Amino acid sequence: MIEAAEHPDILFICHECDALQKVPAMEPGSVATCRCCGSTLFRCPRGGTEVPLALFVSSLILFLIANSYPIMALEIAGIERETTLLGSALAFIHEGYPALAVIVALSSVLIPGFSILGLVYVLLSIHHQLDWPFTKPLLRWVSRMLPWGMMDVFLLGILVSLVKLSALADVVLGPGFYAFAVLIVLYAAAVSSLEPHFLWEQLDRPSTRHAEETA
Ligand SMILES: [Zn+2]
Repeated sequence: MIEAAEHPDILFICHECDALQKVPAMEPGSVATCRCCGSTLFRCPRGGTEVPLALFVSSLILFLIANSYPIMALEIAGIERETTLLGSALAFIHEGYPALAVIVALSSVLIPGFSILGLVYVLLSIHHQLDWPFTKPLLRWVSRMLPWGMMDVFLLGILVSLVKLSALADVVLGPGFYAFAVLIVLYAAAVSSLEPHFLWEQLDRPSTRHAEETA
């Protein structure tokens, strides 16, 4: 663990006590702590972008499966109905709640999808030093939207409705449901493995490819 000490380049504000301090260059696996209150300023991940990239690519695959296959099928009196994630969110339109449909679709499908895709793009660009365009605005937008992705709340809603519907109809869970359940665990692990400070530092650093081109 490294205590924040003097460094000419990086200024960091502690989120706990607002102390402004200079932070030294970090070794992988080390943690910077505030010199005033001792709280964690940021961590320098040991594996760089490898772990978050692997988790977000896995999340993207599961996200595509969860949205391509039905999450459940209902059978009442011989009539069978299947629905996908987006289909179940948009079903609120037919029930006369268009605003609710938009909120559910945004928080459970569109925002998580945008966040996962955006972070895979940014992490791939950093990890392979590809210098892809728009990585900085994309990371800024994803950081703003991450708190609005609420797939876990949506899963809780599905489970509650399952308990209620099981008394009225035959409910068969589809592959989309299992992919969605695993996705929520992986997505939470992927988000917690992110270290925004490290990503911004990598994006600000000129890549070796760029250095070779300009040499
Ligand atoms: Zn502090």
